[in-house]
Amino acid sequence: MITKNNNLNLVDIGSISEENSDEGEPPLGTIIAILPKHGLRLPIYEKNLMSLPSVIPNKNHGFPISNKSAKFYHKHFPGSTKINWGNWKWQLRNRIRTLKQLETFVTLSNTEREILEKRGKLGKLPISITPYYASLLDERNGKQSIRRSVIPVIDELKITQEESFDPLGEDTTRPVNGIIHRYPDRALFLATSFCSVNCRYCTRSRVVGHVTKKQKTGFADWQDSIDYIQAHTEIRDVIISGGDPLTLSDKQLDWLLSGLSEIKHLEIIRIGSKIPAVLPQRITKKLLKILQKYKPLYLSLHFTHPDEITEETREACNRLADAGIPLGSQTVLLKGINDSVPIMKKLFHELLKIRVRPYYLYQCDLIEGSSHFRTSVEKGLEIIKGLRGHTSGYAIPHYVIDAPGGGGKIPILPEYYIGRNGNQVMLKNYQDKIYSYYDPVSEQKSKKLKVGICYDLKEDYKNMGYSNEDIAEFDKIETIEAIENSLKELGYETDRIGNIHNLVHLLHNGKKWDLVFNIAEGLHGISRESQVPSLLDAYGIPSTFSSSTIHSLSQHKGLVKHVLKDKGIPTAAFHVVENVEDIENINLEFPLFAKPVAEGSSKGVTATSKIKDKETLHQTVKDLLVKFQQAVLVEEFLPGREFTIGIVGTGSEAKALGVLEVFISKNAEQEIYSYANKQNYEEMIHYTIATDIEAQKSADIAIKAWKALGCRDGGRIDMRLDKNGVPNFIEVNTLAGLNPNDSDLPILCRHMGIPYTKLIQMIMDSAVKRLTPVMQ
Ligand code: SF4
Repeated sequence: MITKNNNLNLVDIGSISEENSDEGEPPLGTIIAILPKHGLRLPIYEKNLMSLPSVIPNKNHGFPISNKSAKFYHKHFPGSTKINWGNWKWQLRNRIRTLKQLETFVTLSNTEREILEKRGKLGKLPISITPYYASLLDERNGKQSIRRSVIPVIDELKITQEESFDPLGEDTTRPVNGIIHRYPDRALFLATSFCSVNCRYCTRSRVVGHVTKKQKTGFADWQDSIDYIQAHTEIRDVIISGGDPLTLSDKQLDWLLSGLSEIKHLEIIRIGSKIPAVLPQRITKKLLKILQKYKPLYLSLHFTHPDEITEETREACNRLADAGIPLGSQTVLLKGINDSVPIMKKLFHELLKIRVRPYYLYQCDLIEGSSHFRTSVEKGLEIIKGLRGHTSGYAIPHYVIDAPGGGGKIPILPEYYIGRNGNQVMLKNYQDKIYSYYDPVSEQKSKKLKVGICYDLKEDYKNMGYSNEDIAEFDKIETIEAIENSLKELGYETDRIGNIHNLVHLLHNGKKWDLVFNIAEGLHGISRESQVPSLLDAYGIPSTFSSSTIHSLSQHKGLVKHVLKDKGIPTAAFHVVENVEDIENINLEFPLFAKPVAEGSSKGVTATSKIKDKETLHQTVKDLLVKFQQAVLVEEFLPGREFTIGIVGTGSEAKALGVLEVFISKNAEQEIYSYANKQNYEEMIHYTIATDIEAQKSADIAIKAWKALGCRDGGRIDMRLDKNGVPNFIEVNTLAGLNPNDSDLPILCRHMGIPYTKLIQMIMDSAVKRLTPVMQ
């Protein structure tokens, strides 16, 4: 119980009238109650406001009026004076609240008119716009950002399944009517249900809208609220909110702040308000004097769009800052209103200029009828990413989601922390460049990540009697050594596993790894590349590169073309021939190109692969069917330049490392990147990095294809230009060769000046992100 309040001189407060109100008094109201302990008389705002005269004298004017506002009040309030306009009570009395009033200020769009005509019946959040804020609205453009924030549209009537009346579960954390107590050391003091402007996305529309007695909060609850805070010594920070507390009269605010200041364990007081944006005239010198008495007092101001930073708002914020009151801002991310980097950057820059520190950027809560305002979380992350590193840290707020059901504010950040590897913390900067930071941790935590390496070694299979062509895709020992050395250099503990047979044996004996770096191509079956990842999946062991599903799909050159064609990626017209009879069904334009449907390393691609007539087609396809015992892909020949695009990363973070153009030497099999040419690539092929427009377009399409398929970590996509110069997808290599000297991806990196270890690091960085929860 507070004893000091009994000493407050509250007798003065009750007799609020226009004559003695001065600039700092509240709008007139009907006195409805008297707090028993303190004798505080409680006015109610809503009653009879609109019937009051609109011209009210004001002893203390001097608030600036911008030209825009001046023109507006001359036009729409011809009987009023500058003094009236600069008086916050006059502004409150002349709020725009009906369709009829609104129509005199703006030309309503169909969607605005539709809801406004229905509104009365449906009882949604009422309209309230101060004349000052109305002067900032575009008279004709219904899509103007700030106009959308205060004038409803028909979409407001759409209530989605996820939305609710009280999405944050505030009503379940109200120990007394006027207090929300969710965090242990902080409490929200609901001082009033009144707001000067009703924002269409308001989380507390249940409190500030057409509310029941139960939902309404105000003076009648103050004593209980103060008693509650007094009794809860763990509360060190109180946020006075509502509604908008700065719509209270000076004396009421003074009384409340004084009462709260008397609570010994209360360390700071904050006030949440949108007043400087919608009714800056409220920041009177008298109000400042009151606020200055109570320290430390912080103001959390609500801003939505840079259009709100006017001459008047600047004056209000500068007055508050000059009075020594720390100012922070809160902004709700709203679709079509402020959901872009340039708008947010401008808003935050403008706020800093008036000494308001951007504090929170809120994801729009799941309040009923707000789906038309809600962006994806990715949009919020995109905005934060577009700010971090691109402007000063002071201009970047915390992007938070207020967890549904009362979980509190959860900060959402783009992924700058990738993970830990022993004593190195892997970090990503604003340009997506990866850095490691030395951060020694306790012995147990500094345990290195154990990485197994799976591979098919040529030598092992040669000793079993397989031909060179059978094992063309398999690796030389130098590849395994290069990968292992790089992993060690990057700080990983390595363990050579070898092929799938060794893996089965080791798993059977209970061996485990944190991650397996898998380059095993497999020997049998069309899904051979997916066998090791599938086996590891079964044991819950993550592996590098794409999932087994994507390996299988990519291995089938026909199926993958079907999927990408469906996703709108250009690829040459094709036919998958299953048997000799099927050759007759090919209906493609010559010249054609034929290859086995599921081989790698250009196996089955020879000088005869390019087919000019029906007769050769029959023979070539028949030979391939017999030799490779699998279907044959026949596609229209692409006569243009051939590129291979190196890619690292997963999903939205996938990026092209470069574009390698393949040139066939004069003494090589012409026009085709054949098996023979590949095997003797040093004489037959030469490569150049291409950066021209065709190469860039090819890279763009390759990245689209990579993302469309859901490929991960690293690999290559081959593209070729058609006769019109359009890049066409040829094939994707989800297990690209990693021989440091001979394989296309390391060759590309070499040409791009990317060291081999850096390539392995980028692949690992992408894979390790999937482990982060486990590592922590
Ligand atoms: S100022 Fe805040 S409480 Fe008032 S209507 Fe707007 S969002 Fe709601």
